Amino acid sequence: MIPPRFEYFAPSTLEEAVEILGRYGGEAKVLAGGQSLLPVMKLRLAEPKALVDINRIPNLSYIREEAGGLRIGSTARTNDLNDSDVVKRRYPILSDAAAVIADPLVRNMGTVGGNVSHGDPANDLPACMLALGAAFVVRGPKGTRTIPASSFYKDTFVTTLEPDEILTEIQIPKPKAGQGNAYEKLEKRAGDFPIVGVAANLILGANKKIESAGIGLTAVGPTALHAKAAADSLVGQAPGDAAFKRAADLAMKLAEPVSDLRGPAEYKRAMVGVFAVRALRTAAKRAGGGA
Ligand SMILES: Cc1cc2nc3c(=O)[nH]c(=O)nc-3n(C[C@H](O)[C@H](O)[C@H](O)COP(=O)(O)OP(=O)(O)OC[C@H]3O[C@@H](n4cnc5c(N)ncnc54)[C@H](O)[C@@H]3O)c2cc1C
Repeated sequence: MIPPRFEYFAPSTLEEAVEILGRYGGEAKVLAGGQSLLPVMKLRLAEPKALVDINRIPNLSYIREEAGGLRIGSTARTNDLNDSDVVKRRYPILSDAAAVIADPLVRNMGTVGGNVSHGDPANDLPACMLALGAAFVVRGPKGTRTIPASSFYKDTFVTTLEPDEILTEIQIPKPKAGQGNAYEKLEKRAGDFPIVGVAANLILGANKKIESAGIGLTAVGPTALHAKAAADSLVGQAPGDAAFKRAADLAMKLAEPVSDLRGPAEYKRAMVGVFAVRALRTAAKRAGGGA
């Protein structure tokens, strides 16, 4: 299908992009990789009057580690996460997720910023951002603001982004000694959207007990879910299956899966438990402790 008619803009600065978005008063959309937006336009699920292509804006596609942690420019491609040494070595949860997102063609076009801003509960990266305690830097007409991932996701395709705001950077705290993380995804076929995905991040203290934890869930709610109670239950515990299964039970309680072509709700809820334990085991191993 052909998408409806729209005006196309390719600004070369963020200021210009924000101004065009504002001019259309909610009827324009940011175009990044186009891998989610164009399909929904072709299906007439979105009919924006204008697209603001942010790909010509310079210095928006970096991945670099700074004193505070990892900084990902919003138009860095999903595949750039796979190609990045620093991501593989120090933020392996992101390589886990990027490796199982769609296929190489989609990963070469789709952006990290688009994946996290789209608000699709089946996108894999939002759960990782929740587990890692990431923050999103956003530019709008009034300047820049930083939104924690934990308060970004509101509902299906609804985030705290205003229509005239552009996500410019994703900030991930620098890993501490004793930190490990992992993303586990259950999919029907390689490259499919997830039936269920679980992101886990653990920090072990000097006594090898869990000092802090983060857990995010994909595709089992109206939006990516921050499984805070599950993660908090791990604090002070020894990393091992006893603690992991208690946390997995809490994650299953939080999940609100629906029955669809990917499986019945009860199956999905059970898989949250299985995949939470798997993600936590891998995170603990990477943190240098646990089974
Ligand atoms: C066949 C196929 C399979 C896929 N499988 C998976 C999968 O398994 N897992 C997965 O996670 N994803 C999957 N995707 C989605 C893919 O990862 C998309 O690339 C991603 O969801 C959106 O990124 P994008 O850069 O293409 O964004 P676009 O399609 O350009 O935009 C998506 C939305 O986000 C908004 N947006 C984009 N960038 C910004 C920004 N910087 N600031 C503000 N708003 C912005 C747009 O306005 C739009 O509303 C799949 C896509 C396809 C076509």
